[in-house]
Amino acid sequence: MKRYLAFIIILFLFAGTALAGDEVNLYSARKENLIKPLLDRFTAETGIEVNLVTGKASALLKRLQAEGRNTPADLFLTVDAGRLHVAKQAWLLQPVESKVLTDAIPAHLRDRDNQWFGLSKRARVIVYSKQRVKPEMLSTYEDLADPKWKGRICIRSSGNIYNQSLLASLIAHHGETEAEKWAAGVLANMARPPRGNDRAQVKAIAIGECDIAVVNSYYLGNMQTSSDQREREAAARVALFFPNQNDRGAHINISGAGITKHAANRDNARKLLEFLVSDEAQKWYADSNHEYPVKAGIEVSPIVKAWGYPFKEDTLDMGKLGQYNVTAVKIFDRVGWR
Ligand code: FE
Repeated sequence: MKRYLAFIIILFLFAGTALAGDEVNLYSARKENLIKPLLDRFTAETGIEVNLVTGKASALLKRLQAEGRNTPADLFLTVDAGRLHVAKQAWLLQPVESKVLTDAIPAHLRDRDNQWFGLSKRARVIVYSKQRVKPEMLSTYEDLADPKWKGRICIRSSGNIYNQSLLASLIAHHGETEAEKWAAGVLANMARPPRGNDRAQVKAIAIGECDIAVVNSYYLGNMQTSSDQREREAAARVALFFPNQNDRGAHINISGAGITKHAANRDNARKLLEFLVSDEAQKWYADSNHEYPVKAGIEVSPIVKAWGYPFKEDTLDMGKLGQYNVTAVKIFDRVGWR
């Protein structure tokens, strides 16, 4: 009898520890304001505390690697399929089986081994000067390499993952040789050497330095709704064009997350991922940065809708963006796109 009592006491002790440990640790490369309200909602609904660490994607990846099996992180959240691929290749993630996730997220927006999952979509689009460019002149990414655009294009440096992923998509669709010709062609058409972030390209159009640029869609939304009047004015001078609407569709990328290889709170991490694809979370998460939900049937924000929705999206497997990243970087190097 005494032995049974001891056993029961031990059981209670274990249950107590489990409750005290009802938490999940999130490393996020997204800014706190783009995720925190959702995490608070998750805690309110489940009682699971979320400990949030934010930082740059590259720094968080290094930290995960350095911490190894001692990492406190259960979940790694970042933008761009290229980066999620890097995390997978570095053995930092583990697969998770979840019907909730695979039902909510189209197959091309998640890892084929279920090691990472897209949570929102963004399009890399063309923006153009309303004054100097007629939308009829625009058509495809491929067309940006045509000499008719000589001296008229602004685009950021090749060190940025967004351009690497765009080029990776061109490699996937046309092969390495054609992709290299394209990169050389776009470089020859640049109005200035690549510099600045995506917003800087929009501003360059606004002051007449160039006529068209390639940017992620949400930056335009953020500028349109900016508290900085100069950003709003610059955004008002450009319009957004979705390329390749008559063939494969506009280039899409994702923000997404994966459970870390050494997650101590694996179940809670899965629950948080599943929460992030709920209808309520999908709407808020996409709206908060003027992005698109990954889940079908969720409305986009009025600002995003005004750009044109739905539009034709490239349904290339996001894994290919990671797979061709190294080749893309080499091509940029060879053609001299800094
Ligand atoms: Fe961004």
